[in-house]
Amino acid sequence: MVLADLGKKINNAVSNAINSKDGNNESNIDLMLKEISTALIESDVNIKLVLNLRNKIKSKLIKSNLDGVNVKKNLIQKVVFDELVELVDTDKSDTFILTKKKLNIVMFVGLQGSGKTTSCTKFAVYYQRRGFKVGLICADTFRAGAFDQLKQNATRAKIPFFGSYTETNPIKVAQLGVEKFKREKFDLIIVDTSGRHKQEMDLFQEMVEIDQTIKPTQTIMVLDASIGQAAEIQSKAFKDSSNFGSIILTKLDGHAKGGGAISAVAITNTPIIFIGTGEHIQDFEKFQPKSFVSKLLG
Ligand code: GDP
Repeated sequence: MVLADLGKKINNAVSNAINSKDGNNESNIDLMLKEISTALIESDVNIKLVLNLRNKIKSKLIKSNLDGVNVKKNLIQKVVFDELVELVDTDKSDTFILTKKKLNIVMFVGLQGSGKTTSCTKFAVYYQRRGFKVGLICADTFRAGAFDQLKQNATRAKIPFFGSYTETNPIKVAQLGVEKFKREKFDLIIVDTSGRHKQEMDLFQEMVEIDQTIKPTQTIMVLDASIGQAAEIQSKAFKDSSNFGSIILTKLDGHAKGGGAISAVAITNTPIIFIGTGEHIQDFEKFQPKSFVSKLLG
């Protein structure tokens, strides 16, 4: 089920409960919660999170005088809205702050195909437009063509870049790039690391070594919103090895189910900071939990 369908289903469940003749009784509310839960599970939201959400919504509705006559549409919608926001809002969204004239080294991690290289450039452009002196480093020596892709993106966006066609050691490339941009007083250095198709040990080992060498001030995991349940396992594995502090969620323009990503955020307790909404540089937005859930619910 894609995100738009999830919103429709949730709204239908709420409307049915309200429009039903006995809309205020508990079994009707239970039916509504069941429909909402099914929609969330079909969208790949973790089942435990869904049950938790269901109980929270129910107890809030009960406290709001469920037996009385006034279980109103606004109230139900507000409670559902608030709980969904809470699921994606880690209260840490404001901790991602880059300071100009200071050294910010941001390392990007994620599986191959997640949109890492594209997001690096979008991120670079976003901060360049805000006055940062930004440099991009391609430390992906694993995928043939990775450097050319980053170089092409960076050139188009007029962002200085660093990489190598001959050096095969990604740690060395990252180190040389960081040293060069540091010398030239860049205040935002972005390091694109290599991805793999799966969470493989050598990938994680490489990430740990790059991390220890360049000592990033921030690490961001790029997560494809359409990967469903796998998002959780992937995020946990990356969290253990790279201890990323924030997430960029990509491909929200497509047929993303999104639920897996929502679970990944809730389970790793890590905020989404930006979302990718297309292949172009400008398809990049700051993540706002409330507006995300508003869009979700249509
Ligand atoms: P990497 O292997 O993780 O570096 O992934 P890439 O940056 O090469 O992206 C893989 C594919 O996903 C490319 O075709 C990108 O154009 C595409 N892509 C990246 N971000 C988005 C997004 O937000 N929306 C859409 N529709 N496509 C994206």
